[in-house]
Amino acid sequence: MFNLFKKKKEEKHRGDQYLSLKVREIVKETSDTVSVFFEQPEPFLEYKPGQYLTVILDLGGKEVRRSYSLCTSPFVDPHPGISVKRVEGGLVSNYFNDQLRPGKTIEIMKPLGHFTTDFHSKNKRHFVMIAGGSGITPIMGIAKSALINEPESKVTILYCSRSEDQIIFKNQLEKLQDQYASRFRVVHNLSQPTSSWTGLKGRLDSNKVKDTLTNILASDTNPLYFVCGPEGMMETAIQALESMGMPKELILKESFFTDIDAKEATLKASGKLSPELTREIEVIVNGESHRFEVPAGKTILEAGLDLDVDMPYSCQSGLCTSCRGKLISGKVDMIEDAGLSESEIAEGYILCCSSKPASSDIKIIIE
Ligand SMILES: Cc1cc2nc3c(=O)[nH]c(=O)nc-3n(C[C@H](O)[C@H](O)[C@H](O)COP(=O)(O)OP(=O)(O)OC[C@H]3O[C@@H](n4cnc5c(N)ncnc54)[C@H](O)[C@@H]3O)c2cc1C
Repeated sequence: MFNLFKKKKEEKHRGDQYLSLKVREIVKETSDTVSVFFEQPEPFLEYKPGQYLTVILDLGGKEVRRSYSLCTSPFVDPHPGISVKRVEGGLVSNYFNDQLRPGKTIEIMKPLGHFTTDFHSKNKRHFVMIAGGSGITPIMGIAKSALINEPESKVTILYCSRSEDQIIFKNQLEKLQDQYASRFRVVHNLSQPTSSWTGLKGRLDSNKVKDTLTNILASDTNPLYFVCGPEGMMETAIQALESMGMPKELILKESFFTDIDAKEATLKASGKLSPELTREIEVIVNGESHRFEVPAGKTILEAGLDLDVDMPYSCQSGLCTSCRGKLISGKVDMIEDAGLSESEIAEGYILCCSSKPASSDIKIIIE
């Protein structure tokens, strides 16, 4: 039975975007966050700082996938790593924090994502990064890469945590500040600090973002912004940046979580969704055509997976873009498009995990 299951899984994951990584080391960062470092595969894992990988696990006899940003830098760290913060009642984050041990081999989908930049030694820019909680993970990889690759660039992180002992990568951040004293700065904001805390405290609000950045940016002309953290914190940070006149295209953002059911309910209530009907669609995955019915109420990804169509996916909430496809014809209702840029949407890209058919002539290409 086990072998049959395994064989089916191997057949299904035949694409070259899949890979196995062996857990090398697990480091406890805080009471509810662990970093997991992997042995380098052969050839080495290729990734850009800030990208995420998808872990694929069998938990309780069921395949589950989750996205985790790489917290390491390919330019600095010998072993790729992710950091996982416990979510109350969460299946995978609790497994990582409580049960995962070195030596275990984990199947992954290779790194993806646009929350990154290219580096060049001649660049002279200011990486202004706003992070909350586990949102520090991709930011850590980007910050380390910027500091080593761009000797004339600066990095400032405004980092929101609950309390002193919940600051993820606290020691690493302090070491980097010592190493790059003139170019690297971290401003901590704690929502529930101890009474001895003298830094920023309370919820992050627009004024705090503006005050912190106005001081930092006084003499800088070439900033690039990165924002990653809980939904509310990201909204606050982005609104503050926009109200300071920062151009949208200079603000890169990565969301880890969205309540897609609540979003769908709001769209439905405001009459923005098409009637839910069963529709036949065509999806071309890596050149192979699949025609299938999407039952009323299901997303395109859900219907495809029910029929064992080998469609790539990860977060299943419209954030990570693993399931991105190009809509060649027809119309869909995309409930969450946060993972896509405005230009991708204009070019016709959709996220199959959050899209439901809204016409009968749908053709999608996934590459
Ligand atoms: C691109 C991307 C990168 C990510 N990178 C990281 C990372 O570097 N580190 C990290 O710890 N996580 C990261 N995440 C989040 C991660 O993929 C999982 O969603 C998270 O670990 C929860 O999974 P779970 O299986 O434990 O919870 P689930 O079993 O999926 O969910 C349990 C319950 O918690 C809710 N929930 C799930 N996630 C959250 C959340 N973040 N906030 C509030 N409620 C939630 C669910 O709606 C559900 O009710 C990333 C997500 C994306 C899309």
